Amino acid sequence: GFKCGIVGLPNVGKSTLFNALTRAEIQAENYPFCTIDPNVGVVPVPDTRLDALAEIVKPERVLPTAMEFVDIAGLVAGASKGEGLGNKFLANIRETDAIVHVVRCFEDDNVVHVEGKVDPLSDIEVINTELALADLDTVEKAQHRVGKLAKGGDKDAKARLAILEPLKAHLDEGRMARSMSLDDDQRAHLYDLHLLTLKPTMYIANVAEDGLENNPLLDTVRKLAENEDAVVVPVCAAIEAELVELDEDEQQVFLEELGLEEPGLNRVIRAGYRLLGLHTYFTAGVKEVRAWTVRVGATAPEAAGVIHTDFQKGFIRAEVTSYEDFIACGGEQGAKEAGKLRLEGKDYVVQDGDVMHFRFNV
Ligand code: GDP
Repeated sequence: GFKCGIVGLPNVGKSTLFNALTRAEIQAENYPFCTIDPNVGVVPVPDTRLDALAEIVKPERVLPTAMEFVDIAGLVAGASKGEGLGNKFLANIRETDAIVHVVRCFEDDNVVHVEGKVDPLSDIEVINTELALADLDTVEKAQHRVGKLAKGGDKDAKARLAILEPLKAHLDEGRMARSMSLDDDQRAHLYDLHLLTLKPTMYIANVAEDGLENNPLLDTVRKLAENEDAVVVPVCAAIEAELVELDEDEQQVFLEELGLEEPGLNRVIRAGYRLLGLHTYFTAGVKEVRAWTVRVGATAPEAAGVIHTDFQKGFIRAEVTSYEDFIACGGEQGAKEAGKLRLEGKDYVVQDGDVMHFRFNV
């Protein structure tokens, strides 16, 4: 999965953030999962390792990898009852692989707050209640279905039922499914329910320009996230919107004035990428230095398959150098001479940063 769905109450800064994220439009033809939908943004994943590799290899072009953000506007109280086109929005969230929940932590009298005042915890609760109610509905329907099978003596159904009961109780308390401790088997039993509150989640705390530190509102969001196994990324959407309008030199000056090392969007994208359970390997040829996405745990043939299905089908072996070795040895030749280039077979589990070269039969 590659898709993070952006949710949140109206007027919290979702569009501002989404527009900033998708400002760096990237060429669709290089990204097969690319959709042509105004609500979907294909966003390059910032990775400084690409620059370091390019400096050594001096390729004709450098291509980052990418992931998708989906703008899911309009989730409001009552969505689970079908209000405000609620069902459609819940269906859109269901299709995403992770949830990015934007929370307003900035005061601004010019921007109306739909609930009357800036209160991140209560905002989060409004949205999370809808998600939990939708999941409750899903779980109850599943209990009904699976219950019949279990009565008929179906062992698998019995095992499923044994998880659905405590899960229902958990959701009844307004808690997120992801905060329940589940082993891999239990997770597998729940997989096809596509529960919303089981999806990996990050809160984006949209803070004021001076709100990145010493911010009690941000602290409350952090505390809540800790209790439900979620990540928090603070950004100021207003600053990000300004940054994307600037050219690279101007950006640098602006960031220095603000005392920031990089745009907050970079942190959002990287956190989203991790949230999706993804990591990166590289190919480094003179034509192209390129980052590729695989899920954590993918094997070498699966990684080859990301480039082309034929590479996976005909996979023989991979020549692998870690990113660190590649840089330290000044490239592939140096790595080879230093004995740092490994030959790996079909069971090799790809590590983040691996520089790979595939051998395959055609
Ligand atoms: P959405 O409804 O969640 O998509 O919210 P928008 O992105 O449309 O933002 C709603 C309003 O809040 C707009 O007028 C934005 O300019 C403003 N806004 C968004 N982010 C910030 C921020 O970080 N600071 C301030 N002061 N205003 C913001």
